[in-house]
Amino acid sequence: MNSKHYFLEKNWYKGNTHTHSTVSDGRLDPKVLATLYREAGYDFLAITDHDIYGIYEEMNTDNFIVLPGAETQLPNTRPGRWGCHHIVALGIPGKNQFTHGQRVPYDNTWSAQKLVDFLRSNGNLAVYAHPNWSHSDMEELESLKGILGMEIYNFTTEKLFGCGYSCDYYDQLLWKDKKPYCIASDDSHQKVCDYFGGFIMVNASALTHENIIMALLEGRFYASSGPLLYDIYREDGMVYIKCSPCRAIQMLSNGHPGSVCRAEEGYVTHASFKIPEKASYVRFVCKDAVGCCAWSNPIWF
Ligand SMILES: [Zn+2]
Ligand SMILES: [Zn+2]
Repeated sequence: MNSKHYFLEKNWYKGNTHTHSTVSDGRLDPKVLATLYREAGYDFLAITDHDIYGIYEEMNTDNFIVLPGAETQLPNTRPGRWGCHHIVALGIPGKNQFTHGQRVPYDNTWSAQKLVDFLRSNGNLAVYAHPNWSHSDMEELESLKGILGMEIYNFTTEKLFGCGYSCDYYDQLLWKDKKPYCIASDDSHQKVCDYFGGFIMVNASALTHENIIMALLEGRFYASSGPLLYDIYREDGMVYIKCSPCRAIQMLSNGHPGSVCRAEEGYVTHASFKIPEKASYVRFVCKDAVGCCAWSNPIWF
């Protein structure tokens, strides 16, 4: 029997990678925000204000850390149509070159690629935020190199504008052999109750900035708006998944239209699927009774 498990670390850490504070257009100051998330059971939070880089190490405790970051944005210059690119930067420990309170020194005439390269060369991970809200062009997203991930779900844009899901963008990227991870975030601004709706669960050995960033780089996490994933493994041409009680567990790939294991009544908490013959990856979506989802990262073969 040949089996491979995908979540090997003993601990799970819940975090939100995209939030705004009073430093830009959020309602709550960074300290109140950190307390809000910590008291809600989160293990980490990235405070990513528009253009202003934030480093809040003094708010770290034994069971909660604040990741450094910022959100940068470019107007999209396509004629006759609204659009933009928002890129979230998350600082890599020991490599981040930006300082606390610094205006991130980019120019909004740059291309999205130039901005991503700039953030990376300054020791940051680059996450493409809310493509559906940004009206991003698929061609532009496909040609973008060096993004760690893409927000498959952004809570505040779903809550306020009804366009927080970017699932189709994500599949299209995977079909073109691009390999960004999928991330769910709050992008909270606190003008409405737009927190605790999109998060990632990180599988890591301990709660440190280094461990969380390393797990992000290696894809040891999943995105969620509610359901939890407990195990994903592969054995002899089959893939297996275990999750919190859901109404449906879906497997998506590039080798097949998709498969679903549905609870006609009650719940499903596990499923197994034959790996489609032509698939170079599979990913899972687990949807619960109120429509919240967990989105696994793809397993590439
Ligand atoms: Zn944004
Ligand atoms: Zn934002």
